[in-house]
Amino acid sequence: MSDCLFCKIIAGDIPSSKVYEDDLCFAFNDIAPQAPKHFLVIPKAHIGSVSEVNSENSAVVAHIFEVIAKIAAEQGMDSYRVVSNIGEQAGQSVFHLHFHVLSGRDMTWPPG
Ligand code: 5GP
Ligand code: ZN
Repeated sequence: MSDCLFCKIIAGDIPSSKVYEDDLCFAFNDIAPQAPKHFLVIPKAHIGSVSEVNSENSAVVAHIFEVIAKIAAEQGMDSYRVVSNIGEQAGQSVFHLHFHVLSGRDMTWPPG
């Protein structure tokens, strides 16, 4: 999608600090980290949010969770949080599906 920030990051048009990449997904460090470790994992194909996941495109979501588990194991992250905000009220600011992975500090529940 030409007007999407994260599509531009995938294309390399906007620089990012890459954590992982394969044919289906891309992971990069968040520009405004909310924890000592905070990266985002996104599908390469544009999906607006979890609310656009369906039987046609859901395989990439399973793949992304496999990738998250692999990165976490490689980085020795034994406790972490995975978050996806859907819609503005929930805090979504970039409308390309992404999973935040946060680790390295105590976290509260419920979230604010
Ligand atoms: P959301 O608010 O949609 O759940 O998450 C979007 C995330 O993207 C935010 O945590 C924000 O810091 C991050 N972000 C926004 N613009 C950029 C950017 O240009 N580069 C990187 N690496 N992260 C970004
Ligand atoms: Zn996009």
